[in-house]
Amino acid sequence: MPHSLEDIRRRIQKVKETIAGLGYVLQGTISRVYLTCGKPQCPCHRKGRRKHGPYFYLTRKENDKTVSVKLPRGEATSYRGYGKNYVRLKRLVKRYARLSEKAIAAVHSSRAPRR
Ligand SMILES: [Zn+2]
Repeated sequence: MPHSLEDIRRRIQKVKETIAGLGYVLQGTISRVYLTCGKPQCPCHRKGRRKHGPYFYLTRKENDKTVSVKLPRGEATSYRGYGKNYVRLKRLVKRYARLSEKAIAAVHSSRAPRR
């Protein structure tokens, strides 16, 4: 049993409201990195010793190139939140498109001439 057009419209409205409440969205993957420094005498160069970090990077594809940006210190948690929002937005856009498809089908079938 297909949903009524009214029901589909209500669902679309809910998706729109959820999108409106999302906040910042950020595309990319956040990674935690430990690094060695430029000083050869620093313990970080010895095997099994602690390296510097963690540092956090945001990585994503831009025009077929992988681009990494170092995130401000202590901001990884906020950036992860923006990243989660981006994933949610993508899901919501897909849902919006699926519901729209149903609504379009319902509108056009109701206009079709009956036999
Ligand atoms: Zn070092």
